[in-house]
Amino acid sequence: MLLAIPAALGAQTSPDGRLGVEVRCDDGRPTYSVTLDGAQCVLPSALGIATDLGDFGSGLTVSHVSESRPIAADYTLYNIKRKDNHYEANERTYTFAHDGTDVLAATFRVSNGNIAFRYELLRSKGETMCAVVDDEATGLCLPEGTTTFVCPQMGEMTGFARTAPSYETPYTADAAMGSNGWGHGFTFPCLFRTPKAGGDVWILMSETGNDGGYPGCKLVNAGGGRYKVSFPSPKENNGYGSTGAQMALPGTTPWRTLTVSDRLKDIVETTIAWDAPAADRTAPDHEADSLRALHSRGYGRGAWSWIIADDASCNFDTQKQYIDFAARMGWESLLVDAQWDRQIGRDRIAELAEYGRQKGVWLYLWYNSNGTWNDAPQTPRNCLSTAAARRREMEWLERTGIRGIKVDFFGGDKQCTMELYRDILLDALDHNIKVIFHGCTLPRGWEYLFPNYVASEAVRASENLRFSQGACDHEATDATFMPFIRNAVGSMDFGGSTLNRFYNSHNAEGHGGGRRITSDAFALATAVIFQSPVQHFAMAPGNLTDAPQWAVDFMKQVPTTWDDIRFIDGYPGRYVVLARKSQDGRWFVAAINGTQQTLRLQVPVDMFGQAPTLTVYYDRPTDGPTPQSDVRQVRPGRRGTVEAVIPVNGAFVVTR
Ligand code: CA
Repeated sequence: MLLAIPAALGAQTSPDGRLGVEVRCDDGRPTYSVTLDGAQCVLPSALGIATDLGDFGSGLTVSHVSESRPIAADYTLYNIKRKDNHYEANERTYTFAHDGTDVLAATFRVSNGNIAFRYELLRSKGETMCAVVDDEATGLCLPEGTTTFVCPQMGEMTGFARTAPSYETPYTADAAMGSNGWGHGFTFPCLFRTPKAGGDVWILMSETGNDGGYPGCKLVNAGGGRYKVSFPSPKENNGYGSTGAQMALPGTTPWRTLTVSDRLKDIVETTIAWDAPAADRTAPDHEADSLRALHSRGYGRGAWSWIIADDASCNFDTQKQYIDFAARMGWESLLVDAQWDRQIGRDRIAELAEYGRQKGVWLYLWYNSNGTWNDAPQTPRNCLSTAAARRREMEWLERTGIRGIKVDFFGGDKQCTMELYRDILLDALDHNIKVIFHGCTLPRGWEYLFPNYVASEAVRASENLRFSQGACDHEATDATFMPFIRNAVGSMDFGGSTLNRFYNSHNAEGHGGGRRITSDAFALATAVIFQSPVQHFAMAPGNLTDAPQWAVDFMKQVPTTWDDIRFIDGYPGRYVVLARKSQDGRWFVAAINGTQQTLRLQVPVDMFGQAPTLTVYYDRPTDGPTPQSDVRQVRPGRRGTVEAVIPVNGAFVVTR
């Protein structure tokens, strides 16, 4: 009954009725649009994919629209912003025909504040059982006046040793639409603010559920408010590998996600990156659940010499000193960075691992993902890029008692590289090895999909504070973007929170590295605000004597795994106030100021219950750019708040 189906295929709404999606098919071209409280905030935007079987973005008719059906998922993750999660959505599938044959289905799940949608390429053209996806029509069209908070995609085969792109560019707040970044579009996630009568609508677009069966996509601007999902550039991976997707039929794409709300709270607290893959699970997966629980027992804090003391510090004696430092801090691990194979050697790494084991400090070892796709000379190279080498390496890592690896310098976002991420994770899982990625893509639901996945860099991270004074000067402002964008959709390996004043091993001017402009309280605050279940902090052994005792004590007891999150206040690029509850029940409230003015706030402390006094880490302005930090006990005011006065480059942290 093809003709009975009208162009407008019925609106689909979230369980609370506020968020709506309308799918249409006009002149053979399918589109979707989004409303919040009845007002359109995403204009009709294209749907469809182009394949070697045909262009399924035009010439389509609607052959079937399913009933809207409620779906739900409950899941536990120890490595994201919230441990126990409940997801409820209304799901509807639209099937499209081309030349009278069903070829493509689009499934939309609409939950409170979030939309997830994906395509299924059907097995319908004769006996063909596989297809190549060359391009997507998928668009995001935003109303005039919308502003952007996005990271430009880096030019492929540029940057250090031709290792770009790697998601390491800065955000700009409230930039106009219409630009295409540095000519290559923007990396996910992308945040937009759409003005509306009575307030703004925030839209965070990202993608999730990529287990290696599809390239990592980005968003390119096609003029004005028109954006389009785009595949990697042919030049990534030194030109090797297809930019498209190879699929068995029927096959599904990853989920595209839109978090849509008039409150930034819903952006910061969203769990759609894990809700979507969790809801794909049709039956309990006890094995994955028990592996997640097993790996969660190995999360925690760690030391890392490279960020302060550079490549030269990757020697036996310094690493042994850092094991002692980690043990004194009560931290669980040490990250041994590049060149360990040459400067320490495998036999003495085994010695260090045994020394660490006796002190309760487990090792993570750095690897170059290379391969064949960049010029980064750091070793070990070629240990993880083929199955044979990888299996040998994982066996050695397990035998040596190594807890995890940090793999750096990936070649891009082509499907062949997404397969490599998956294969490293799966081979490591067999040997109980945890995995951190650096110089890499955004994780796309990997905290859920891979029980041994820890976190990815995919951010302009702490290394830039070592490389450039400009990054130090902007540290406070840059940090305020993270909870709203990058860290909202994935664990973020930032490697920050130093108490050194200078990023060098002398902790003094004239020895290279940037000068830290932010306060000591700021270092404590970002340890709470930046989320990763394993944090290798940038502290140095010298901080035991050259930093305030209260700051060192805080860093000894700050957790890295969280039961819950509560966004309190803020604006990306200006400031952020948020609270996290640790998995042992302690609350931490942290605020940072990225503006050029002193910030005065009433910070709610009701989460601490009837505590008579609270511990507050705070800042006072000085004559220079860096505030002076201190600690005091305060009594909550009668309204259940404490007053925070936060100078420029400063912070405010409350604990019990
Ligand atoms: Ca990097």
